[in-house]
Order: sequence, then C-alpha cells, then structure tokens
Amino acid sequence: GSVFSNVVQAPEDPILGVTVAYNKDTSPLKLNLGVGAYRTEEGKPLVLNVVRKAEQHLVNDSSRVKEYLPIVGLADFNKLSAKLILGDDSPAIRENRVTTVQCLSGTGSLRVGGEFLARHYHERTIYLPKPTWGNHIKVFNLAGLTVKNYSYYDPSTRGLNFQGLLEDLGSAPPGAIILLHACAHNPTGVDPTPQQWEQIRHLMRSRSLLPFFDSAYQGFASGSLDQDAQPVRMFVADGGECLIAQSYAKNMGLYGERVGALSIVCKASDVASRVESQLKLVIRPMYSNPPIHGASIVATILKDSNLYQEWTVELKAMADRIITMRQKLFDALREKGTPGDWSHIIKQIGMFTFTGLNSEQVAFMTKEYHIYMTSDGRISMAGLSSRTVPHLADAIHSAVT
Ligand code: PMP
Repeated sequence: GSVFSNVVQAPEDPILGVTVAYNKDTSPLKLNLGVGAYRTEEGKPLVLNVVRKAEQHLVNDSSRVKEYLPIVGLADFNKLSAKLILGDDSPAIRENRVTTVQCLSGTGSLRVGGEFLARHYHERTIYLPKPTWGNHIKVFNLAGLTVKNYSYYDPSTRGLNFQGLLEDLGSAPPGAIILLHACAHNPTGVDPTPQQWEQIRHLMRSRSLLPFFDSAYQGFASGSLDQDAQPVRMFVADGGECLIAQSYAKNMGLYGERVGALSIVCKASDVASRVESQLKLVIRPMYSNPPIHGASIVATILKDSNLYQEWTVELKAMADRIITMRQKLFDALREKGTPGDWSHIIKQIGMFTFTGLNSEQVAFMTKEYHIYMTSDGRISMAGLSSRTVPHLADAIHSAVT
C-alpha cells in the first residue's frame, strides 16, 4: 500500500471549486458567476491592450534578462505601486516612511504582511469584516494570527451595519489589527461612505487599532484609481501607520501573473528600513524572490504617461461594463415582476452582487439553470453579459417564486 493511503480527500475550495463544477457541466446554457474574473460582452477573458503593448516593449528590449529579482522584487514596481495607492504627492513616500515589497498578488501580500505581524507586532489578533473573502480567514490563521470578526453587513437592509461595526471596533483590544477592504467589499459590494470612513478612522486611531487594507479592486469600484484609493489615503494622511496589500489581478487583468505589493507605512524612515529587513526574512524561506514578468508589465505601464493614460481608459471601460450589467439585471427582474426589492443590485459596488439568495436557491439555480455561483449567493457581475442577463433573471425569478 501507499505510504499516503491514509490521506483523506479534501473538499474543493469554496470559490475555485465553483469553476471545477462549471467545467464539468456540458450544458450550452452554463454560466460561471463564481470566480471574480472579468469577462467581455462575449464572455471571454480580457487581456488589456495596454498590457499587450507593455509586453511587446519587454520582448523587443534585448537587454532584458531573466536573472533573479531581489527578495523584495523589482524596485521600480515597488516605488510606483506605493505611489499608485498613496498618491503622487504622498508625504509618507517623500519622507521615506513606506516600505514596499513585491509579493505574489494580493493573496501573497496578505500572507507576508500577516506573518510579519505575527512575528513582530504586539497584538496578534486580526479582526475581519463579517462576511469577508473566504480566503482571508485561512491566510491569517496560517500566518500565525488569531482571527476574529467585526459586524459589517446587515442582511435586512443589504447594506452596512455601521452601528454594529463601530461597536465591535470600539470593543476590540487596543492595538488589534483590523482588516479593511479598501473599496468594493468582497463579497457584499457594500462600502462605507466617505463620512463613515472618516468615523472609522477616528475611532481606530483613538483606540490604536492597526489598519491592514486589502486593496484588490482599486479602479474597479468607481472606475477611478484615485477615488478608490481615498479611504487608504485618508488613513495615511493622519500620519499614522498601516499595512496595504495591493493586487493587480483585477485592475490590470494580470490574474495569473501573480503580481501585487505589500506596503507598510511607518512613522519614521529608520523604522521602515528595519521593517523591510524583517520582511526579507519572511519572504526568503517562503519563495525566495518574486517572479519578474508581471511586475515588469506593471512597471512599464505605470512609468509611461501614455500607457498609464491608456490603462485608465481600459480600466474605466471594465468598471462601466459591470455597472451596465447591474442595471440590466435590475431592469430584467423588475420587468418580470420578480418579488422582492432588488435595488441592492444597482446600489452595491464593484465586481460582486450579494444577491440575498440562500444556499438552497443557489443549488436550485445550478441544477435547473446551470448557473454557477458561491453558495452565499454572491454573483460576479463581471461574468455577465447582455446575452446572459435574461437567463440569470429567469433563474432568479424561479428560485424565489
Ligand atoms: N482580497 C480580496 C478581497 C479578493 O477578492 C481577492 C481576489 N479574489 C484577493 C484579495 C486576492 O486576489 P489575488 O491573490 O488574485 O490578487
């Protein structure tokens, strides 16, 4: 017998498992609204033109080699990534108080940040919004932190439970780490307003809670990179410290390139440089150093004003298409007279709609309509097109009637 014969079959990942099931379905009607990946109106994955151009530049530059990057990644990429989230004129950057390390997309940035905190920060509890992206819990647990949660979503309003959020953050132990979705909260699509963000900031700073921003959708919420970065910039503007995990998966469509960054904003430059020295000790035994291609694409685009401009246009087009899908789905349900208030479909922000459908209704839609989504009722609006909206509306209609 095999020495591994006692290994038990693990369940599929709750999000990526949706695609596994979708791939097995042979129906021509099948529709994958599970994983958060952008699709065109034709239902195809999209490589941005600006990414193709940047790749052409890279290929044509014969001086480029395939040497290892440093442990912290590509220097230009790191500098430009910090600027992208903190702003061109950020005092924290100018004062050299920010350390940025290239990591394996958003997930890797969260993990490296989590392990750093578990080793070097005095309070090892991280509070996650309830609900949150399912992987957060495992990432931070395995990083060595204790995971708790704070109130976030109110199912009765399908909006923010702001009172509950303030109460929970108000009773977290001083110094606790608070995970905040920078924009386009996954899975709920519910974000605090600027005024609410300001209250959250004030409360967190007064209780010395440490913000850890997860910025996986900068530009995808509003279509504007600067606007989507406002909550992060608000916290950095007060001079306090925070961590930021950035992903280029969605906003540059670089999913499989695994390109992202972890920034730690400190109060002084000598602290930032000691922090960076410790981040290297986290990274080196984990994967040694990050991959070169995706970061080179990002750096090429961010440092060229024409390419950057083109990127913002393509990004806005993706965000706008998603907003159009929200309207079309909402209109389709209203036209059918589907019972219930579906206005949250157009109010929610970013890639996902948290439909309010329960797991039985989701299972029904998968079985009868070949529509694949996570069992919490989250649908990826980016996976919808004008052609498939009516099919989804039919499915929702019969699931709730
Ligand atoms: N955080 C959130 C909230 C996400 O939705 C995602 C992607 N689904 C990630 C982080 C990480 O994605 P990636 O590692 O592909 O950048």
